[in-house]
Amino acid sequence: MTTCPVCDNKRAIGKVGTEQYFCWDCCVEFMIRGEETTIFNVQPDGTLTLYLEPMENIR
Ligand SMILES: [Zn+2]
Repeated sequence: MTTCPVCDNKRAIGKVGTEQYFCWDCCVEFMIRGEETTIFNVQPDGTLTLYLEPMENIR
């Protein structure tokens, strides 16, 4: 079972690709390759940008 790396929830996870998942709770997409998880923000126009923690966001 896949858990969302952002909200630590597994009930709102949808699979969108081979190793790609989407969380309906936080609207993020994440990719799992072995031990490595990459998180993306989904922009309103559908593009993916790398997810940044609010604290790491300079703006
Ligand atoms: Zn989530």
